[in-house]
Amino acid sequence: MQQEKTVESKKCFHCQENFKITDWDLGFYEKISPVFAWVKYDIPTPKLCYRCREQRRLSFRNERNLYKSKCELTWKEIISIYFPKSWYIAYDETEWHSDKWSPLDYWRDFDFSRDFFSQFWELLKEVPRIPLSVVFNENSPYVNQCWNIKDSYLSINCWFWENLLYSEVAYHSKNIVNCYSVDSLEFCYECIDCQKSYLLFNSQNCSNCSNSRFLHNCTGCIDCFCCINLSNKRYCIFNEQYSKEEYMEKLSDLTDLKHVKNAFENLKLKHPQKNLHISWSENVLWDYIVDSKNCNQCYDVFSTSDSKYSFNIDSNLKNWMDLSYCAEWELIYEAISVAGYNNLFCHLVIGSNNHYCNLCLNNSSNCFWCVWLKDNSSYCILNKQYTREEYETLVPKIIEHMKTTWEWWEFFPSSISPFWYNETVAMEYYPISSRDAINRIATDWKPIFKWSTYENPKPDVTKIIPASKLPENIKDIPDDITNWAIECEVTQKPFRIIKQELEFYRKHDLPIPRRHPDQRHLDRMKLRNPRKLYDRNCDRCNKEIKTTFSPERPEIVYCEDCYNKEII
Ligand SMILES: [Zn+2]
Ligand SMILES: [Zn+2]
Repeated sequence: MQQEKTVESKKCFHCQENFKITDWDLGFYEKISPVFAWVKYDIPTPKLCYRCREQRRLSFRNERNLYKSKCELTWKEIISIYFPKSWYIAYDETEWHSDKWSPLDYWRDFDFSRDFFSQFWELLKEVPRIPLSVVFNENSPYVNQCWNIKDSYLSINCWFWENLLYSEVAYHSKNIVNCYSVDSLEFCYECIDCQKSYLLFNSQNCSNCSNSRFLHNCTGCIDCFCCINLSNKRYCIFNEQYSKEEYMEKLSDLTDLKHVKNAFENLKLKHPQKNLHISWSENVLWDYIVDSKNCNQCYDVFSTSDSKYSFNIDSNLKNWMDLSYCAEWELIYEAISVAGYNNLFCHLVIGSNNHYCNLCLNNSSNCFWCVWLKDNSSYCILNKQYTREEYETLVPKIIEHMKTTWEWWEFFPSSISPFWYNETVAMEYYPISSRDAINRIATDWKPIFKWSTYENPKPDVTKIIPASKLPENIKDIPDDITNWAIECEVTQKPFRIIKQELEFYRKHDLPIPRRHPDQRHLDRMKLRNPRKLYDRNCDRCNKEIKTTFSPERPEIVYCEDCYNKEII
């Protein structure tokens, strides 16, 4: 990673930690500072460290908490990311897109005697919202952030194909259950960071594998069981080569799953791991980076360049900083779920030259403080239409006002998020207790986070059984299990089994899960390395390395060179 020069050291307003501003950062702020009527309005350096900035952005994204609610236009039942009686209004998807209402009817003038965020919050609470972020899906009512998928259930951030059950960040896949961060899989179960595989179960960091189970860091393997760091092998068990007949015979003895899982975990400790999960990239730092260059402090990024402090970035994005869940084009800063060009401080926006907008997905341009604008809207402020000249005269005045209220150059505060902190992705990466959330007060004495105590009603079922009472063997599970709820063995939260899922487990001889889908998600996330970078020494050549394996962890960790020499 190329060295950046520190030019300023600051203390974070929230966590009080020191953080550095570098020459690269200053160059970026200069590049994205907007120009109105030939005058440049500088974006100063941030008040919060990058972690607190990310936490604030993530508090604007609820992915997994879905509620049965009512459309506030037709009172039709809907599935929504806004809990019933939340402060925000949701319309059924068809009504939301219809011409029965217009977001421009909610316009207001800016009141220069008040701060911006409280005026924006009033607009946010009034303009109807879409209940789920979904498009072009078929027969998949319980999914979010998905498009072009069919017959799927409780899946998040997926696009293309069908029968995706309890999966996340899954692309171009069919018939998969409990998978995370996968591409082009078919008939797969409990796979994490795997690609182009078929009939692969309980595996991680694998590609082009098939008919295998419990693989880790393997490529091109067929008929393998409990193996690590293998390439193009067949009939291996615990990294030992067997003949086809021996393999089949040995496999028939390995039926005790608890024992197999323990043995697999022990095997992982005996074989080296690569320090970072980076592929086809140059001059990048942090983890899970593919096909990218010049990315510093980025995690889960794909096909991007010239960027910093960003997470879950999909493709073709360059020149950006402080982003989460963004894709395509360039010059985006402090944004979440945004695509386009030159968008600053936005949430759910597709378009160009927008500032402080929310839910403007139809190619909006040159908008300031707007909520849900339709079809190519431009030159709007607080949902009010202006001419270009009026817009360019008014926006600089507003920026000057925002400077006096300390709001210019800061993303929306979490307190005006459409979600409560414990519903959002922020809770996954920055977990806090309800007490901690309530006690966090900003410098204006307002609470920083909201905390929800809403709970979905218990499922309407004939009986609830504890997970420990479930038969081990799928053959002993009756058809009417789909009418019961199972009590999660960890959280005691009840969950259901759907017919499609039961058929998958039966077909592939897999046991019924004992854990609630939310707990299964957390279990999978724990198997990935954390968003923390440590200094460690390569366990082969002793060179200093950066890694997401903490020095206390028992795995053998190699630098990229040593790993490639020994494994590939
Ligand atoms: Zn901080
Ligand atoms: Zn080494």
